[in-house]
Amino acid sequence: MVLLGSGAREHALAWKLRQDGAQVRVLPGNAGIPGSVPAVSATDFPAIQQFCQEHDAKLIVVGPEAPLAAGVADYFEGSDIRVFGPRKAAAVLESSKVWSKDFMRRHGVATGRAWTFRSDQLDQARTAAAELQGHAVLKFDGLAAGKGVWVCASEAEFDAALTEMQALAPAGHDWYSFLVEEKLTGPEISIIGLTDGNVMRLFAPSQDHKQLLAGDQGPNTGGMGAYCPVPFADDNVLALIREAIIEPTLNGLRTEGLPFMGFLYFGIMLTPSGPKLLEYNVRLGDPEAQVLLASLGSSLVDLITAALDGRLAEVGVRQKPGAFVGVVLASGGYPAAEFPTGFVIEGIDTVSPGTLVFQGGTRPGPAGLLVTGGGRVLTVVASGPDLELAVERAYAEVKKITFQGAYYRTDIGQRPAPELIG
Ligand code: ATP
Repeated sequence: MVLLGSGAREHALAWKLRQDGAQVRVLPGNAGIPGSVPAVSATDFPAIQQFCQEHDAKLIVVGPEAPLAAGVADYFEGSDIRVFGPRKAAAVLESSKVWSKDFMRRHGVATGRAWTFRSDQLDQARTAAAELQGHAVLKFDGLAAGKGVWVCASEAEFDAALTEMQALAPAGHDWYSFLVEEKLTGPEISIIGLTDGNVMRLFAPSQDHKQLLAGDQGPNTGGMGAYCPVPFADDNVLALIREAIIEPTLNGLRTEGLPFMGFLYFGIMLTPSGPKLLEYNVRLGDPEAQVLLASLGSSLVDLITAALDGRLAEVGVRQKPGAFVGVVLASGGYPAAEFPTGFVIEGIDTVSPGTLVFQGGTRPGPAGLLVTGGGRVLTVVASGPDLELAVERAYAEVKKITFQGAYYRTDIGQRPAPELIG
């Protein structure tokens, strides 16, 4: 089969699919993922098609969002090559925040109150934020690589956010849309699984750590680490989430004639008045995927095949026992626009058996060496009988891998337990 993408998430997917017996080629992959084909981009559909034909590949699994938003599932529709991922019309759940908020409202999915504005309605947006006493979240409607959301605590902060948002105005368009949303409070969890459009099978609940610095401080990043399962996301909480968020979503997709096949991600806040949906992603999260796939006891190949055949109801998801922690090693300077790369990475082959090292921003260096080539360089995943031990092991392994300027958060999986849920 063919896997599209090039990050540590795709390394984890390729590892898991191979564990389950699949032969996997990764387009384009990276220096650390065996079977990578750097010449074929994940959004060059004719080249992907040619590769599949030459290698007799009949299934494409999609890692990142970009090929989905560009219509990879639509492109192969009707051919003998099956794509595990939603069509473009359903991928809009992630790519447009205004569309997805309207969808949530239409189908009674539990979410925060929000108002939609156009870029020529800044004064009306200020009035809405004033009614929320400045406790408002501003969301630009479009893909902004995690830089299109501002969580504000005052009207002055909201004003500054409005000014910053104007820099994202798309070239060649007269206007754009944005949301003003009430600011919610509570712990956040990622609920991720796969669906055939009717049934949703969930992986373990997980938690990402988006900010660069310990204590959830500093700028947002693609994600500095994750762990699973989340001890406070117990069966009661999951039942509430199914009822208030997952089932209305699946019903809504069916009602609107948007059959959804693929991984589906719910970014959820457990507020004092119950779970509320912050966002959908139409793919696995990174770094959540690295811990979820390490902890998955069932065959991912079987799950994907069952979803494609519309028989997901017949297949269960088994978790390995214990806790799984993934710590991201990043390049010094990340997430700034520019930072130095090309530093030799050492120690990957010295980690203990059972530890997984998933590579993202790496590239081949001189003399067969591996060097840094991106912001989030790799994710180290370790497990233990409980979260505390898994954290301890993960950090013992992280220390064995070195490169100049390496940075990692020291508090992954160590957030204090929340007091009030649901
Ligand atoms: P991602 O980087 O996950 O793709 P995104 O840019 O698509 O994120 P959201 O997930 O909608 O945007 O929001 C990013 C973060 O902002 C959330 O993880 C959450 O911490 C915060 N946030 C979003 N909406 C709210 C809200 N209504 N109340 C409080 N915080 C919020």
